[in-house]
Amino acid sequence: MTSVSTYPGISYEEMAQKNKEYVWHPFTQMKQYIEDDPVIISHGNGRKLYDMNGKGYWDGFSSIWLNVHGHNVKEVNEAIIEQLDRVAHSTLLGMANVPSVLLAEKIVELMPKGLRKVFYSDAGATAVEIAVKMAFQYWQHKDNPEKKHFVTMQEAYHGDTIGAVSVGAIDLYHKKYSSLLFPSIKVPYPGTYRSPYGQDPKVVVEKYLEQVENVLKKRSHEVAALIVEPIVQGASGIIVMPEGYLKGLRELCTQYDVLLIADEVATGFGRTGKMFACDYEDVTPDILTAGKGLTAGYLPIAITVATDEIYNAFLGEYEEQKTFFHGHSYTGNPLGCAAALANLELYEKNRLVEQVAEKSDYLANQLLSFYELKHVGDIRQKGFMIGIELVVDKETKEEYSWEERVGVRVCRHARELGMLIRPLGNVITFIPPLASTNEELDEMLHILYESIEEITERQ
Ligand code: PLP
Repeated sequence: MTSVSTYPGISYEEMAQKNKEYVWHPFTQMKQYIEDDPVIISHGNGRKLYDMNGKGYWDGFSSIWLNVHGHNVKEVNEAIIEQLDRVAHSTLLGMANVPSVLLAEKIVELMPKGLRKVFYSDAGATAVEIAVKMAFQYWQHKDNPEKKHFVTMQEAYHGDTIGAVSVGAIDLYHKKYSSLLFPSIKVPYPGTYRSPYGQDPKVVVEKYLEQVENVLKKRSHEVAALIVEPIVQGASGIIVMPEGYLKGLRELCTQYDVLLIADEVATGFGRTGKMFACDYEDVTPDILTAGKGLTAGYLPIAITVATDEIYNAFLGEYEEQKTFFHGHSYTGNPLGCAAALANLELYEKNRLVEQVAEKSDYLANQLLSFYELKHVGDIRQKGFMIGIELVVDKETKEEYSWEERVGVRVCRHARELGMLIRPLGNVITFIPPLASTNEELDEMLHILYESIEEITERQ
């Protein structure tokens, strides 16, 4: 495939004008955005995206942490077309369709043992919204309606709907909406780089679990569930939790009779080097949410998967009104499910998750050289989730002020050099497609290094 625009007959300039006139972009200050020349993607192939002018970019953020095999993948394309010849959509409200049944079976096979019932939706945020409502309603059916609060992690991100924002805790994104939200109980997420307890992972695990236990000791009678991004807290800056913490959380939740919700929207489907991050510690949550990589980054399908214990609590006679009153127009969309099935077949055929684990070691080794850069304070990695924290001073860990927009400037430079990545404040995230080869990763890392050096040392 060449890098020729697939939209002949309309120029980049015309498209940019229409974009400026009609589109409101997410998480984007439009005042600045419309003054700039936008990247307008025309097509993709392999691990690259191409803009309308034919310029190619490495997809260094997997199109917001979704992409798996690359773009324009023959097997996934064909599966969608094949399904399209059958039916594009039919509802799951009281009916079924073939791909959603087959996909649910496959998902249960891959899930941590004990997660057995798949509820479909169309975004990570809706998957979380569903998990929250499910946990809340579960306790009502268990005659324990006072268990209605949620414990969540400081700096957590679970999506942008009101329920998901209520269990989130990133001030920049969430504070504006605070009076709209239900309150949640916050505990700190255990990272080591800025931990007040030092960097010994064992001590960090012990101290942070202690804080959770203190909360549960006092309040478990009114807590429905604890929600966590297992192993890696993504949007807060790729914070990797030390070994043992997740298992400890599971034990505390069991001990204090609180449901554990693992939000694997970012970490699920191989992103961290295991099929699910929970697999690192053999943890089965009561509810698991996932999305993103499920359809290879093709179509919007997300899932909330529950244990039989949760599911069974919703069974009852019609008059008892124990139904889970939730659904979306596109729940279980056949095209999306067909794409997901083809995607998961490719995982198996290519031993993709094992490959990610192997290539992660390679990546970790290559990333060591980044510490030679004067302003790289910390490199956090789990599988193909990488965060590079830039600091003014390595010794003191002094942070860049947000007005300096150092992360934005590094990513902008990378874009000029031919790679798309996004910052989280002063953390540069590098989230390449899972099927990237070592050679491709090297090319991407080269741009990353060059961009950090240019902005933090030369400009
Ligand atoms: N949960 C986590 C852990 C995420 O990282 C994200 C998105 O990045 C979401 C939920 C929300 O997913 P979506 O953007 O598909 O709504």
